[in-house]
Amino acid sequence: MDLLHGLNPAQRAAVSAEPGPILVLAGPGSGKTRVLTHRIAYLVTELGVAPWHIMAVTFTNKAAREMRERIEKLMGGSMRGVMMGTFHSSCVRILRREVDHLVGYDRNFVIFDSDDQKQVVKQALKDLNLDDKRFQPAKMLSGISTAKSELVTAEQYEAANYVAEITKRVYKRYQEILIANNAMDFDDLLLNTVLLFDGNPDVLRAYQERYQHILVDEFQDTNSVQYELVKRLSALHQHIFVVGDADQSIYKWRGADFRNIRRFEKQFPGARQILLEQNYRSTQLILDAAKAVIKRNSDRVHKELFTERRGGERLVIHEAYNESDEGQYVVDSIAMLTAQGREPGDVAVMYRTNAQSRALEEAFIRAGLPYRLVGAQRFYGRREVKDVIAYLRLIHNPRDDVSFGRIINVPKRAIGRTTQMQIQQYAQQIGFSSAEAVMLLAGDATLPHPFSARAFNALSHFGNLLNGWVAVRDAMPVGELLDLVLEQTDYRSYIDDDTPEGASRWENVIELRGVASEADDTSLADFLEQVALVADADRTEGGPNAPTLLTLHAAKGLEFPIVFITGVEDGILPHSRSLDDMEEMAEERRLFYVGLTRAEDRVYLTRTFRRTLWGNSDVAVPSRFLQDLPADVVESAAGSHSSRQQSQSRMTSWNWSNPDNAPRGRSTHRARASRPTTEYRTRQPLPPSRSAQPERERQSAPIQAQFKTGQRVRHGKFGEGIVIESKLTGNDEEVTVAFSAAGIKRLAASFAKLELLE
Ligand code: ATP
Ligand code: MG
Repeated sequence: MDLLHGLNPAQRAAVSAEPGPILVLAGPGSGKTRVLTHRIAYLVTELGVAPWHIMAVTFTNKAAREMRERIEKLMGGSMRGVMMGTFHSSCVRILRREVDHLVGYDRNFVIFDSDDQKQVVKQALKDLNLDDKRFQPAKMLSGISTAKSELVTAEQYEAANYVAEITKRVYKRYQEILIANNAMDFDDLLLNTVLLFDGNPDVLRAYQERYQHILVDEFQDTNSVQYELVKRLSALHQHIFVVGDADQSIYKWRGADFRNIRRFEKQFPGARQILLEQNYRSTQLILDAAKAVIKRNSDRVHKELFTERRGGERLVIHEAYNESDEGQYVVDSIAMLTAQGREPGDVAVMYRTNAQSRALEEAFIRAGLPYRLVGAQRFYGRREVKDVIAYLRLIHNPRDDVSFGRIINVPKRAIGRTTQMQIQQYAQQIGFSSAEAVMLLAGDATLPHPFSARAFNALSHFGNLLNGWVAVRDAMPVGELLDLVLEQTDYRSYIDDDTPEGASRWENVIELRGVASEADDTSLADFLEQVALVADADRTEGGPNAPTLLTLHAAKGLEFPIVFITGVEDGILPHSRSLDDMEEMAEERRLFYVGLTRAEDRVYLTRTFRRTLWGNSDVAVPSRFLQDLPADVVESAAGSHSSRQQSQSRMTSWNWSNPDNAPRGRSTHRARASRPTTEYRTRQPLPPSRSAQPERERQSAPIQAQFKTGQRVRHGKFGEGIVIESKLTGNDEEVTVAFSAAGIKRLAASFAKLELLE
């Protein structure tokens, strides 16, 4: 039979199993997704199941599209009717039809994104007379989201302590507002579907009849509400077919729980378990490397995994000088591989954090090599990066109305649409740009203007900021100017809402800060020009035959002949957030495992000697995971690369033995220890966690004002002056000083380095 042809016996057993609860547990590349795809085709063609009785859940909508194409190819016919998509998209479809059963909603309900959610939670806090400084909206939202993914409604939410009691009240009000808006957030889509079923047995029954066969890919990454949904839908017929691999569970931060596999086994005691043990993707060497890495995780069930692809090429571990050198190495290696007959599209370049894509993208752009970026905005296209650049552009050129429009109310400073239009008109009338008009207003309170007192206050506050920045722009290195802007606008709290996405946005800003500080000798104008050129080149989209750049998380389920994993350093992979948490560390290891097992033929692991990331330049420490690779799967460092010469020439200009050249204090011996690539097996002392550092600095910022009105102070550039006012803002102190030469300036104490003169 065609469908079973090209499958091994275990796969065949899974594809053709009698309908019932079936659990396929197997390592990467063993054909789980392939089996699931064939199973759908088998159900339809061999068992005569109507396509509309099948619901297949994939991890992304993209995966669903690919699966649909594969099945259509397999069957040579249309798969119309099969419900295929993510949990969210499946639930939306059910809710669109059935939402009338939920009190307060009608079928035109809208889905609120994270910005909308923030507004709603703020409103809820306001309605409850709660201070949103004390009860941060992001914290409240994250509590609500966790509750929803655990299937806990506001009524059920346990008010175990004071904060939980508040969260419960906010959660309740938050839901009321959503309902009043006929809106749901993302978590609601799942939770409400479960609630719909629980409250309406007849509706559930109809869907149980409709979706008689349920299949779930990447089952290890389901969370509780998703699990409960599957459980309910399959309760009647129990035709539930799930495939997964606990070792590849990498979405704990979204509430995924690989223990759902155990729950499944308990739930369906008669479930048939099928193990697949042959890997068809990778060479023996790559598998050996991956197995050696994952073996170090405790609390896991050992699975057999073998391949017939004996031998293979050893893994290359390359130490680049810094991140731009690393990018260059990747690009050079791709050039070499394509010269050897490989296609650029065979290559994937993976990284742990989104911010790392910046240096890589720049290397591709410099080389004129098109690339595809998966699942993310190109670095210079990201909202937060554009915001910050808009600030710098406006400071450089206050006539830039486009940049002004972008940031006038970002972060929110109570300058709404009407006021913005008024500014435009007013500026035109007096013959200036909007920013100039605002700066003028701030400088001269006697100017006639059309603004309400409230609008005027907001505008002149912003105008003061602009005046301050423009005054220092030529005297200050770009990096410091950027710091000042970030600090005085409190941009971080705007962009970083304590969610992983927020943290990643902030990392992008800090990454840009790193670019700026490297350009310390460049003028603001030159810096902006550089950035504009890269951002523009950015538009060249790579076609299908271009290397793919993606995060390790986004790489799940995919495969590529050649895989680069970059930034294999402690603090990046494993991420600094995981260094003191065993469970997080185990998850980082799984992530590295997922990365390695994407590769078919070749793996390159790169790290830097010295990395500027998240605002700090420091000697990098090789990832502890590298120590787990057996020596015989790794290519010796000596037999490295053409581009290595380039790295080396840069490295020789750096004097290893001269402590004066050492990046900073104690790191000299670390520098030496990490020099020869072959020494990656010695455990290195941990550096202070890099990403944690700015955090610490923020926290150690004064909580009490250091300066008082009337004090005399000296500033490095502005000279002597007198403190007019000082107040605490966020984590910093904002000091307004009248300088005898430079006039009145508003400064952030932590950056201004004011010296007290009495
Ligand atoms: P992951 O855990 O990474 O999601 P997986 O278990 O889902 O992996 P698949 O992606 O289904 O694995 O399969 C890996 C590769 O092996 C695919 O290219 C697939 O076509 C191929 N493959 C699977 N089974 C066989 C087989 N019996 N014969 C030949 N190739 C196979
Ligand atoms: Mg798969």
